[in-house]
Amino acid sequence: MRHRTTTAIHLGDNMTIRFSEPYLAGLEHSYLAQALDSSVWHGDGDFTSRATAWIAQRHECEHVLLTTSCTHALEMAQILSDVGPGDEVICPSFTFPSAATAIVSRGAVPVFVDVRPDTLNVDLAAVEAAITERTKAVCVVHYAGVGAQPDELAALLGPRGIVLIEDNAHGLGASWKGRMLGTFGDFGTQSFHDTKNITSGEGGALLVGSDEHMARAEILREKGTNRSAFLRGQVDKYTWVDQGSSYLPSDLLAALLMAQLDRFEEIQRARTKVWDSYDSGLQSWAKEVGASLMHVPDEADHPAHMFYLLMPSPQHQAGLIDHLAQRDVVAAFHYQPLDSSPAGRRFGRTPEACRVSADVAARLVRLPLHPGLGEVEIDRVLEATTSFPAA
Ligand SMILES: *Cc1c(COP(=O)(O)O)cnc(C)c1O
Repeated sequence: MRHRTTTAIHLGDNMTIRFSEPYLAGLEHSYLAQALDSSVWHGDGDFTSRATAWIAQRHECEHVLLTTSCTHALEMAQILSDVGPGDEVICPSFTFPSAATAIVSRGAVPVFVDVRPDTLNVDLAAVEAAITERTKAVCVVHYAGVGAQPDELAALLGPRGIVLIEDNAHGLGASWKGRMLGTFGDFGTQSFHDTKNITSGEGGALLVGSDEHMARAEILREKGTNRSAFLRGQVDKYTWVDQGSSYLPSDLLAALLMAQLDRFEEIQRARTKVWDSYDSGLQSWAKEVGASLMHVPDEADHPAHMFYLLMPSPQHQAGLIDHLAQRDVVAAFHYQPLDSSPAGRRFGRTPEACRVSADVAARLVRLPLHPGLGEVEIDRVLEATTSFPAA
């Protein structure tokens, strides 16, 4: 077996700098071997308990469930919110399609609203304007792990009895005004896909804000049965009691996840170093070419999940991505607006044209960001980017 020991060997000077890459933090092989040597390969074993406890403690949130993906956590949140046919759920146009598929899977209508031009997070005035008597929930993403004003959203929606779901796939460990993202709403979701800061290949988690929702959530996750209560000795046999599916990940995946969580600080330090280097190294170039770098408001503490910039025009977006590719640096655009997507038009409703979403989607460029990038690679990205000419 070949183990990747240092990034220097892996990423030689003339090799392609990939956009994202899973990072072996060191404990993965031993934890996975421990899990394989145990008799528990199914879900809710020791590693699941440990990873769940880590996430719960970090968020000061009592109720956490590991799930098979963030998409599944979003689906669970929709079921728990009693979203069904005839209901509407508001979400930004500029987000990942899972927010919308989770709504459509309930037979409900996603209502797309626009984002703010500075943080690319949902526009609160647009959310308020889109509320009708059918609105059951609002599902927002904290884009790049920068809080989407979750305190103000909670204050807007709570009194109206509308559920708030925070898709925190980008923001594990990030906070808004000192409070952890994913804990402002009724539900928070995490992703452990291998493009995220902490990964088990595929995986996710659901943070649940109330005891009642939690009791139902563990049933949904266990195929609609009360098996979790049975395993705790609270009922003497388990049976089918509610809707459900299999949202429970294998303990083998939880072992991988725990290996990464135990190296969280190290992973975050490495990512933050890349982010900070881009931010300081690109300021003057950005002014020259008329680009704007990722904006982080004072209230936000972000987890260096992503570094993006907005080029002055769609031609500059394509131009920069191409320019970097010629220098073996892989950069990427991001979300294509959901309101104008084929499925968005078919299943969704868009009260107001999402102009900012369309505009930023056509100008945004994300630079490579993963812990495997050392100083040599960071300098190569900076040189390649700043050699992109003005005008
Ligand atoms: C990655 C991502 C998802 C999907 O996560 P999975 O774990 O792959 O289901 C959902 N929302 C956002 C914002 C994401 O970035």
